[in-house]
Amino acid sequence: MKKVAFYTLGCKLNFSETSTISRQFEEKGYLKVDFQENPDIFIINTCSVTDNADKKCKKIVKEAKKISPNSYVAIIGCYAQLKPTEISEIEGVDAVLGAAEKFRLHELLGDFAKEQEAKVLASEITEARSFNNAYSINDRTRTFLKVQDGCNYGCAFCTIPLARGKSRSNTIESVLASAREIAATDVKEIVLTGVNIGDFGIVDGKRNERFADLVFALDEVEGIDRFRISSIEPNLLTNEIIEFVSQSKRFVPHFHIPLQSGSNTILRRMGRRYLRELYEDRVSKIKTLMPNACIGVDVIVGFPGETDELFLETYNFLNELNISYLHVFTYSERANTRAVELDGIVPMKKRNERSKMLRILSEKKRRKFYEENLGQTFTVLFEEDVEDGKMHGFTENYIRVAAKYDPMLVNELKQVTLDAINAAGNVEVREPEMVYEKH
Ligand code: SF4
Repeated sequence: MKKVAFYTLGCKLNFSETSTISRQFEEKGYLKVDFQENPDIFIINTCSVTDNADKKCKKIVKEAKKISPNSYVAIIGCYAQLKPTEISEIEGVDAVLGAAEKFRLHELLGDFAKEQEAKVLASEITEARSFNNAYSINDRTRTFLKVQDGCNYGCAFCTIPLARGKSRSNTIESVLASAREIAATDVKEIVLTGVNIGDFGIVDGKRNERFADLVFALDEVEGIDRFRISSIEPNLLTNEIIEFVSQSKRFVPHFHIPLQSGSNTILRRMGRRYLRELYEDRVSKIKTLMPNACIGVDVIVGFPGETDELFLETYNFLNELNISYLHVFTYSERANTRAVELDGIVPMKKRNERSKMLRILSEKKRRKFYEENLGQTFTVLFEEDVEDGKMHGFTENYIRVAAKYDPMLVNELKQVTLDAINAAGNVEVREPEMVYEKH
């Protein structure tokens, strides 16, 4: 039995795809093993958004060859689509597969016999037109279910459309089938994943369905306790969706909404499809209907043209906004994007200072959000994540909870009352022994 190991860089989408590819291998009779267990084959799923993608890729290949010098190494993922030739020249790489090829590893690479030269099988991104269904399973308490891929937006800083292609989706019927399949395993929570999931519904270049209808349909799936929408563009997060989630049986009150900048000047330069007023309106709509909702925000600092004044606009905007945490990205130049042509380059030192300021703000926001929820009762999904005798899990509104370790609680949903924030920044449950079953 040949052994195969996987390494995934990047986002939830990559995790769901690696998981699906690993199931393809298991179905073909391969044994999935950990990276250190002398695999015969390594599959490395790369990301183009990560800083130093090239260095990371080289490092992982080097590690792999140290562990199994005669192994076969195949590189897939966004970075493989963007720089196939460059990657094929890394010592130890046997094959590089692009976005249209990555789900066809067996068909294209046969029995993974090593050859003199590395194989490069990456067609133009315009060829990546079909949707490949994927979800992660057995890897986590939560499952990442891919419902959409690619993006038609073309934001100035973003390489994703170049790496993943045009927007395309699964059908509602097929997503429901996957959700029912997942429900039959013991998974309690599904995180809906995609590049631009609010744009769900395009098949073969034509819009057939709507994301809102997918949400309505999934809410009826028995056997899944929670659905979480991973990240959705503010202009696509409609009142219809927000209102539905506020009444929903299964969709949790947690939204992750990319903002990228709180300055309208920068939003326009980035080519984003909304202004800060719309963002503010989305947040206020959510908070009016769901005062305990968690709202996460993506923000980029140091985009070309971001002067000190414009950065302060972002800082003040976020400071005033009723949000729960930030994901801060420091802008870095990416080849073949419109942003590299723009003037007003921000020195790296400034970018890092701004990033630090927003990370501190994020911690303040998170703490305030946690404090506002203390004393209230929520449902926690406990994970197999034990540290110093404590286990962890998330509430429906994404508060990270710590409780006394009890193996019986792993992958269980329990109602708990939030007591106090501990030194690690997690929320302790009042009396872990008194945790009781949800009815
Ligand atoms: S919406 Fe913009 S940032 Fe998001 S994937 Fe599409 S192009 Fe990239």
